[in-house]
Amino acid sequence: MSLPQIDHTHDAAATSWVESANGHGDFPVQNLPYGVFCRGGGRPQIGVAIGDHILDLAGTASAGLLRDADASWLAGSSLNALMAFSPDERLTLRRALFELLTNERHRAAVTPHLKPADACTLHLPAAIGDYTDFYVGIHHANNVGALFRPDNPLLPNYKYVPIGYHGRASSIRPSGVPVVRPKGQRKVPEQDAPIVGPTVRLDYELELGVWIGEGNALGEPIAMTDAARHIAGYCLLNDWSARDFQAWEYQPLGPFLAKSFQSTISPWVITAEALAPFRIAQPARPQGDPAPLPYLFDTADQASGALAIKLSASIVTARMRQTGQAPYRLSEGPASNMYWTAAQIVTHHASNGCNLNPGDLLGTGTISAPTIDGYGSLLEISNGGKTPITLPSGEARTFVEDGDEILLTATAHADGFVSIGFGQCRAIVLPAQ
Ligand code: CA
Repeated sequence: MSLPQIDHTHDAAATSWVESANGHGDFPVQNLPYGVFCRGGGRPQIGVAIGDHILDLAGTASAGLLRDADASWLAGSSLNALMAFSPDERLTLRRALFELLTNERHRAAVTPHLKPADACTLHLPAAIGDYTDFYVGIHHANNVGALFRPDNPLLPNYKYVPIGYHGRASSIRPSGVPVVRPKGQRKVPEQDAPIVGPTVRLDYELELGVWIGEGNALGEPIAMTDAARHIAGYCLLNDWSARDFQAWEYQPLGPFLAKSFQSTISPWVITAEALAPFRIAQPARPQGDPAPLPYLFDTADQASGALAIKLSASIVTARMRQTGQAPYRLSEGPASNMYWTAAQIVTHHASNGCNLNPGDLLGTGTISAPTIDGYGSLLEISNGGKTPITLPSGEARTFVEDGDEILLTATAHADGFVSIGFGQCRAIVLPAQ
């Protein structure tokens, strides 16, 4: 497998003449994530996050500063064409941007194309043709399975098949767009028939999103040795879930309206190239677990196909916001708590010949750590709604209430390298309408 390599764009000593980038928690010059932004209601445009600013790429190119850039992908309002780039093309662009933003001699020419990020609105980065959600968070699968089957939490297929289902692309929204509490059917155990109304068990799910880069033709699977070139980058994904609807509707075909009302993503695409220094070995499977079937096994992927990313979820209630309290961390844990790597879910998805397209989004599934301080959903934290947690404000929560805001963040760390972040994935819950 040809994984992105570490090069001078990851040099820890590199600094940008955009001063806010140096020491920035998310967007130092070693990151250079792509996104789609607009200012003051203008047309959405492609940009790159650098410190507290966004570099307008179309403006940069029209000024002749991106010599090799083909203008066609820059003219669009989505990253789909950029995501279709080959790994070599992606690397060339990354290196050109790094040069522009680190070499002082470009400062005067580039500065007019920097926009203050806080004056911009971020949009979805791609027109998402298809969205698929997996279930590779092994501890989440164990925790949720144990709520229903205490003696046998994992079903027999789990360690052979990366479990997934086709989600809903049309209702994915970028960070900052509120979520309206959905209405639907739920069945109360004491009653014979379901009732219809707002969910009373609204939950979040802490996931990584995987952006598909180059696609594959219908009928042509993606080998594990090629999977990495099909991954353009990553984002955070909150797969909002109505647990009461889910419990009633999910058998026999899986999640439907409990999940499709809205999903929230972080708007910056953290590229596979930016994450090169943060690759780590896929954790060894527990003794006695089956090895991946040959079509899902690649030595290089096992050696460095996981990512050293710390994920966290926090909450701010309406009362906390009114009294100026900081977000309260609900959980924190490593993204390596995945039973399958990103490359394995890409390969598995295409293994029947299903065609993936640039800008498709794959969710990993909720990523939980083994202990409660790393559980990636309130379903797990509250033990199925039985054990409320108490927030610093004195408020209790089993599930998400109206006015609550859920905030997901992620940071990649590796010794000897500058940490990079994902930016925010946040949304406030509004009452049912
Ligand atoms: Ca999910």
